Amino acid sequence: MKDLYNQDYIVTGICADGYARVIGASTRNLTQKMLEIHNTSPVASAALGRLLTGAVLMSSQLKNDTDSITLQIKCNGPIGGLIAVSDAHGNVRGYCQNPHVDLPLRESDGKLDVSGAVGVGVLNVMKDLGLKEPYNGTVELLTGEIAEDLSYYLISSEQVPSVVALGVLVIPSDAPCGYEIAAAGGYMIQLMPGAPESLIDALEQRVAGFLPVTMMLNAGATITEVCEDLLRGLDFQVQQEIPCGYNCNCSKERMEKALVSIGKAELTAIADEDHGAEIVCHFCNTRYRFEEADLRKMLE
Ligand SMILES: [Zn+2]
Repeated sequence: MKDLYNQDYIVTGICADGYARVIGASTRNLTQKMLEIHNTSPVASAALGRLLTGAVLMSSQLKNDTDSITLQIKCNGPIGGLIAVSDAHGNVRGYCQNPHVDLPLRESDGKLDVSGAVGVGVLNVMKDLGLKEPYNGTVELLTGEIAEDLSYYLISSEQVPSVVALGVLVIPSDAPCGYEIAAAGGYMIQLMPGAPESLIDALEQRVAGFLPVTMMLNAGATITEVCEDLLRGLDFQVQQEIPCGYNCNCSKERMEKALVSIGKAELTAIADEDHGAEIVCHFCNTRYRFEEADLRKMLE
């Protein structure tokens, strides 16, 4: 087995005579890292983990070092809003407004109530592809379960018929918080231009009748094997496998720029009144301390 299969990775390929693009991602480790950074509750772990996985899947369309995709959910549910940002190299980061949201398991199926935590709202997708203006698209949330919302966005806003499946499996453990991520991952199948209309229905049916992705990953399958199984008989061909992970790109220099951008008057006030500033990165909780002398230097 390749070393890559022991870590999180993205697999890309094609199927159905090249009429469909396939992207899969195993994201257990990066979701666990998210849990440890943000102390997410089980339901917040599922919600944010799914969004991070969605951002990882979408990142396969990025090419340049500075390209990025931001998935943001603005919603009225108790989780208060979520954001995930990915780049062209499989790095992803994110946070949610209320990581400690606690809801009972859903009565109908005994699962974590992600849609209950999210509520009603919109999904905004921003793609920074190095052009003058970033690409921006917004759709109303269809279910708040995130996978359906993402496929609805792809179909209605980008006109790409897509099937998306995302999953995060949270299990009890002896970790201090009492639980851990056992498996996480997902896949996205998209029709290429010229594909027969009937293909998306066939793919949707196959996905609907397929085992949950986390169940297969938890049983030891790689995400490549999950895609092979799902697309059996449809000529699935792997093109690329690359690692992915939870990595923040913050630095003291970036935080300094953010401080400078608030303006001279504001910065002077902070120097005069607070004699320094501390900025915490939302994505990774790293603290950056700026002394009064640092602020005075920026003001010059
Ligand atoms: Zn950071």
